[in-house]
Amino acid sequence: MYKGIYFVRYLCIRNNFPEKFVTMILKPFDLSEALKIANLDPRLLAIADKVQHRERITEEEGLLLFEKGELGFVGALANHIASDLHGGKVYFNRNFHIEPTNVCVFTCNFCSYSRLYKHRDDGWELGMEEMLDIVRKYDGQPVTEVHIVGGVHPKMNLEFFCELLSKIRAHRPGLHIKGFTAVELDYMIRKAKLSIEEGMQKLRDAGLQSLPGGGAEIFDAEVRNVICPDKVDADGWLHIHETAHKLGMHSNATMLYGHVEKYKHLIAHMSRLRQSQDRTGGYNCFIPLKFRNGDNDMSHISETSIIEDLRLYAISRIFMDNFRNLKAYWPMLGRQTAQLTLAFGVNDLDGTIDDTTKIYSMAGAEEQTPSLSTEQLCDMIHAVGRIPVERDTLYNEIKIYQEESAL
Ligand code: SF4
Repeated sequence: MYKGIYFVRYLCIRNNFPEKFVTMILKPFDLSEALKIANLDPRLLAIADKVQHRERITEEEGLLLFEKGELGFVGALANHIASDLHGGKVYFNRNFHIEPTNVCVFTCNFCSYSRLYKHRDDGWELGMEEMLDIVRKYDGQPVTEVHIVGGVHPKMNLEFFCELLSKIRAHRPGLHIKGFTAVELDYMIRKAKLSIEEGMQKLRDAGLQSLPGGGAEIFDAEVRNVICPDKVDADGWLHIHETAHKLGMHSNATMLYGHVEKYKHLIAHMSRLRQSQDRTGGYNCFIPLKFRNGDNDMSHISETSIIEDLRLYAISRIFMDNFRNLKAYWPMLGRQTAQLTLAFGVNDLDGTIDDTTKIYSMAGAEEQTPSLSTEQLCDMIHAVGRIPVERDTLYNEIKIYQEESAL
């Protein structure tokens, strides 16, 4: 098994981090001690002071971290927060996906997955029974969640998905159904000529329990106009999630980074999510998603470096003070980078997946058949000196996998 811990050390040394930051990242200890030896900009020290006192940092301070915060520094702060919140625990769940279709009415330029309706022969459209067969395949297996997302098909409507939800619910009542991005929901509810409140209520009554975080991309209207001009905007995305929260459902939130956006757009995006969480408290976790450039209309844009990926996770952990969980979605990052994020503030690796999603494999991700056994996930987590914990969708702990620390 790849030992992420050695690579963390290598990255730190390569970036000339003070030795105490390296130790802090690998095995959290007293942050004040680490700060004393660092020759830091006083403004960064003021941020570190806030983090130590569990105070929220401002948008300006978040921007400063992006502009001036070296990986070792932001990593040490993020680690301090993660270990304060979770004491070294890293969560995963046992899940599988259903992707009803990749036919989509929208034309997001970063998307490698979708096919227009007129080209639907190049894609897939699953029928009701085919989707229920996927659920039946897991009969007797200890999965706790089904994750349903796909393209926005013009003929798969609200009634169709309500029927799917109620059939899954009838077949396996204990399986948590997390489904549909705000983009899919906005389209199907508008097409049914219902208000968002009415549509969400209908879906909830049919069995929908949580929403995934997709479709948020970058909230800024100008960036959105470049990368995904025709789908639901920031206000619409937030309204759908906040409506779900008011109806007693939970959801996740995402941010697609590493394309045309600037640091200020990342901070503004996270700030809107932070405000939304202040209003409802309904988000389970925040998931930064890396832009992958395989086979899409933005393929000319280079992907971010691993250093930028890790910095982004660490700064997210520092900025998103009211999001308890920070997730690295391993099918998108690749399992090695995902493993490294655990040393930079991440406390969740999503799930076993079992080769049931194509979204990132079609965008050129290393994971062409994404599937991890529970043992492999636990090994990845143990290798960076953390404790694997199986959770359900709502972060209730199911099982703690103790093992001698790899440190
Ligand atoms: S990202 Fe989603 S909404 Fe956009 S084209 Fe791809 S499948 Fe459709």
